[in-house]
Amino acid sequence: MKKHNFSAGPSILAHEVIEKTAQAVLDFNGSGLSILEISHRSKDFEAVIEEARQLFIELLEIPEGYSVLFLGGGASMQFCMVPFNLMEKKAAYLTTGVWASKAMKEAKGFGEVVEVASSKDANYTFIPKDFVIPTDADYFHITTNNTIYGTELHTDLDSPVPLIADMSSDIFSRPIDISKYGIIYGGAQKNLAPAGLAFVIIKNDILGKVSRYIPTMLNYQTHINEASMFNTPPVLPIYSALETLRWMKANGGVAELNKRNIVKAELLYNAIDNSKMFVGTAVKEDRSIMNVCFVMKPEYKEFESEFLKFATAAGMDGIKGHRSVGGYRASIYNAMPIESVQALIDCMNEFEKQH
Ligand SMILES: *Cc1c(COP(=O)(O)O)cnc(C)c1O
Repeated sequence: MKKHNFSAGPSILAHEVIEKTAQAVLDFNGSGLSILEISHRSKDFEAVIEEARQLFIELLEIPEGYSVLFLGGGASMQFCMVPFNLMEKKAAYLTTGVWASKAMKEAKGFGEVVEVASSKDANYTFIPKDFVIPTDADYFHITTNNTIYGTELHTDLDSPVPLIADMSSDIFSRPIDISKYGIIYGGAQKNLAPAGLAFVIIKNDILGKVSRYIPTMLNYQTHINEASMFNTPPVLPIYSALETLRWMKANGGVAELNKRNIVKAELLYNAIDNSKMFVGTAVKEDRSIMNVCFVMKPEYKEFESEFLKFATAAGMDGIKGHRSVGGYRASIYNAMPIESVQALIDCMNEFEKQH
């Protein structure tokens, strides 16, 4: 039976990316060696990381003055690297979910943290709109897509101080105005590559303004100077990332993927809105096009686990909602084909018919 992979992360990759990665594990570039056993400083691998960097720049239209880094440690490492490198006295955070709160918590170890707004009291079902960013903050941190709650900031904010964004789960899902950001970072395992890799897009001139000692490995400047080759980078995830970047380019780039993502998300949200049993959890204007969260209406609550079993038996994998929201979550990243979204809708309709 064909499985439809709705997992939130690590998550679906284009089939082609998995095939090409498997091929490189067996025999990389016809070299007779596996990519698992070659030097990261070999010519062949340097070409991989360089092409990946160039495709990041091309697909996201990254302007001059920015660097693209490939690092270990995941997005969570960035929660501490950001304040370590940028915070002299004060930082501002918008808390729109669990990941945003975790990022803010790390910053508290480095100085004064201002929470400009939070939707915690509403279980993060919306993105706060009315807030003031303190102009004396060293930076302002946001999470553009709240993977657990299915909310998303659909525009690039204006900020009077460097804007830092965790884009783990919506990078490459829509065009972004990079020039509005000081740093964009994320774990690769949502929309780009297998786990083990973080990407960082950083404006070079925001660095060098803090007085503390920064350990070499945690210092962005180290990785800019060494082009992500200060130490051994996550070689295999970078290779898969390159294949995803090539796949995105061949599929029309970010603008085209955004169109497809909107079509897929609208299809699923319409089905939820028109259903007798299911209801979405996020407020409509802030709904994510990547993670679709929904629950059973109170009068059908008793069928909650039964639908999960029914959907799983029909090949829907990974749709159980995060424990802090409950219900269901369908993650429909770039690589998710519309046929799989339709299969989930058919499954919901069939279950409704039977109950
Ligand atoms: C998954 C996720 C993280 C955590 O990423 P790790 O690479 O596991 O540290 C952080 N932020 C967001 C928005 C995420 O979706």
